[in-house]
Amino acid sequence: MLPVVALVGRPNVGKSTLFNRLTRTRDALVADFPGLTRDRKYGQANYDGFQFIVIDTGGIHGDEEGIDEEMAKQSLLAVDEADVVLFMVDARDGVTVGDQAIAEHLRKQNKKVYLVCNKIDGIDAHSAMGDFYSLSLGELYGIAAAHGRGVEQLLETCFRPI
Ligand code: GDP
Ligand code: MG
Repeated sequence: MLPVVALVGRPNVGKSTLFNRLTRTRDALVADFPGLTRDRKYGQANYDGFQFIVIDTGGIHGDEEGIDEEMAKQSLLAVDEADVVLFMVDARDGVTVGDQAIAEHLRKQNKKVYLVCNKIDGIDAHSAMGDFYSLSLGELYGIAAAHGRGVEQLLETCFRPI
């Protein structure tokens, strides 16, 4: 059984960009589940020798209504299914109310959660990331999903033998 990694976070933080990067292999199996386009999306990742199932999600705003509510529900189901949760935030936005709502939910879960600060390309990553320690989810991992920076180090941490 391959470990399952869920990508969660607000819309637009770069979850799908990371999903595409992780699954960019010839044999990547990507299946859209029927129903809303905002359903969970599964792929098989083989990245720097790490093999796992990755779940992309539509995102959680933190103040859900209507279609966003279904999208948030799908994200929470992905968390339930996962062995490892990558909680993605946007380094350029700083901490938002939505981030705080998601963090609060994740802190209650008995899951391994890694706080991933995306879009650190072209900015002062160190000062941009400091804000996110307030989410009380421990260590922070800076990446640029669009370019691949930091992704290998993140996976090494996630899958490091205990
Ligand atoms: P999602 O809604 O969380 O799935 O976010 P997307 O993957 O669709 O990305 C949202 C936007 O952020 C897109 O315009 C991406 O090109 C951009 N983006 C994603 N990753 C990065 C990154 O590492 N650096 C920068 N500068 N932009 C990024
Ligand atoms: Mg997306």
